[in-house]
Amino acid sequence: MALIVQKFGGSSVADAESIKRVAKRIVETRKAGNEVVVAVSAMGDTTDELLDLAHEVTPIPAPRELDMLLSSGERISMALLAMAISSMGYVARSFTGSQAGMITDAQHGAARIVDVTPVRLREALDDGAIVIVAGFQGFNRDTRDITTLGRGGSDTTAVALAAALDADVCEIYTDVDGIFTSDPRVVPKARKIDRISSEEMLELAASGAKVLYIRAVEYARRHGVTLHVRSSFNNNEGTLVLNDASRNNPGAGEAPMEQPIVAGVATDLSEAKITVVGVPDLPGKAAEIFTIVAKSGGNVDMIVQNVSTAVSGVTDISFTLPKPEAQQVLRALAAEQERVGFSAIQHDDQIGKLALVGAGMRTNTGVSAKLFEALSAAGINIEMISTSEIRISVVTRADTLNKAANVVHSAFGLDGEDEAVVHGGTGR
Ligand code: ASP
Ligand code: MG
Repeated sequence: MALIVQKFGGSSVADAESIKRVAKRIVETRKAGNEVVVAVSAMGDTTDELLDLAHEVTPIPAPRELDMLLSSGERISMALLAMAISSMGYVARSFTGSQAGMITDAQHGAARIVDVTPVRLREALDDGAIVIVAGFQGFNRDTRDITTLGRGGSDTTAVALAAALDADVCEIYTDVDGIFTSDPRVVPKARKIDRISSEEMLELAASGAKVLYIRAVEYARRHGVTLHVRSSFNNNEGTLVLNDASRNNPGAGEAPMEQPIVAGVATDLSEAKITVVGVPDLPGKAAEIFTIVAKSGGNVDMIVQNVSTAVSGVTDISFTLPKPEAQQVLRALAAEQERVGFSAIQHDDQIGKLALVGAGMRTNTGVSAKLFEALSAAGINIEMISTSEIRISVVTRADTLNKAANVVHSAFGLDGEDEAVVHGGTGR
C-alpha cells in the first residue's frame, strides 16, 4: 500500500462545491488502495480577509493573536473537507497543526518546522481513516502557542508530513496543470514540464516562479521527498519534481535522458534597484553598506559593483531587493551617508528580472552569449547580470520584461506548439 500526501490550496477549496469535488478526488485515491494524508489551505482568500479584519481592529496586531486568527482559516477547510468525505461513506479525521505534531520554533508569522511527530496521524491511518491536516500552522513547545509558517505555508506542511510519514509521493494540487517553462500569462507558448530536478525548481522558485513556495522545495530536497505538482481541475499528469538521485535512475524501460540545457525562464516584477553612488574604493565599504541594508530588513538579491578608476577612487554599488523593503533601506542608508562616505543614493522601482534556469548550463558554454544575443536582437537593454551554476539572471526595464521573456523562451527552443491553457487562477 502506498502512502500519498495530497495538498490542496485555497483556490481548490474555495467554496462548498469545490470542497465536495476535492473530497471525491481524495476518496478516489483511497479507493485505489492508498493511505491518504491531506494538507489543506484556508478557503479561497480567507487568509487575506482575516488579515484585513485584524488590521481594521488594530494597525499592529499582536503576533501571537494574529497566528491564532490566521490558523483558524485552515481549521474551517479541514473540518468541512472531513465532513464531505464522511458523507461519501469514508472515515476521515481532521487534525490541527499541533494535533498533527507539527512542532515549530516560536517565531510567529514565520515559524520554521523543527520536528514532526505525527503519532496521531499514524494511528488514524492504522484505523483506516483518511487524515486531513490543517496546513500552514504548528505549535511551539516552549511557549505552548500556535504558530503559522508564513504565507503559502501549506506546501511546507504537506512536504514535512510526507517526509515524516515516509510517503511515496507528495502531490501538490493547484489551479494550473503543473510547472511551466515560463508563466503562461507572460509567455503564451510556455509548455508544461514533465520532470524537473529539485535543484532547478529551487532556482525557478527563487527567481519568481510562483507555483511552489521555495521553502517547500528546499524541505523536499533536503528530505528526499518527490513532489508531483498537478491540477485539481483535471486528471492530467502534472510535473514531477525529482531529487537528483531519482532523476538519474529512470524507471524500467526508460532511457536515461540527456538533460535539456534550459528548464525554464522565470520573470519577476517584485524587486526594486538601489544604487549607492560614489562609494570610496576601500576595504570594508561593501561590508558597511550591506550591514546597514541587512539591519534595516533588506533582503538583497542581486549585487553589482563597478570597477573604480584609479583617478576617481570611487565606485558604484547597485543591488536589488523586494520593493516593499526599499523605503526603509533607503532611509537607513541616508542616515549613514556621511559615515560611510558615499555621494548619493538612487532608487529605481521600474525594473524587471528575468532568470534562465537549467542544470544543463553547467556543461554548456555559450548559454550566456545566446541569452544576450536574443535580448539584443529584440532591442532590450541589460542593466545587471548575475549568475549561479545553473542560472543566469538579468535586470531589464520593467516594461520590456514580457518581451524579453518571450524572445528568450523562443531562442532556447522552449516554445510549445499551442498556447498554454490558463485556468485564470493564481497558480495557488
Ligand atoms: N492560507 C495560507 C496563505 O494563504 C497558507 C497557504 O495557503 O498555503 O498564505
Ligand atoms: Mg491561501
